[in-house]
Amino acid sequence: MLVHDGYRYVSNRESSKHIFWRCSRYVKYHCRATVVTSKNNNAPSIRISGPEHTHEPEMQKDMQYLNLKEEHEKKLMT
Ligand SMILES: [Zn+2]
Repeated sequence: MLVHDGYRYVSNRESSKHIFWRCSRYVKYHCRATVVTSKNNNAPSIRISGPEHTHEPEMQKDMQYLNLKEEHEKKLMT
């Protein structure tokens, strides 16, 4: 299980270098959002892949989360 930007993901498949995660609401909301993480501990990375989520984040806790989401959206627009 992986949590990123308030969304939960479950591992879908792995390659030698990466793990591919699928949104945990894939079935319920037909959400096709995915992320890819590196398995290299020396250079960990997380990359958004695929389309946007079709639903709101599950973990909306505080303003810090909202700030992070805004930062994320700025990056997507550039
Ligand atoms: Zn989703």
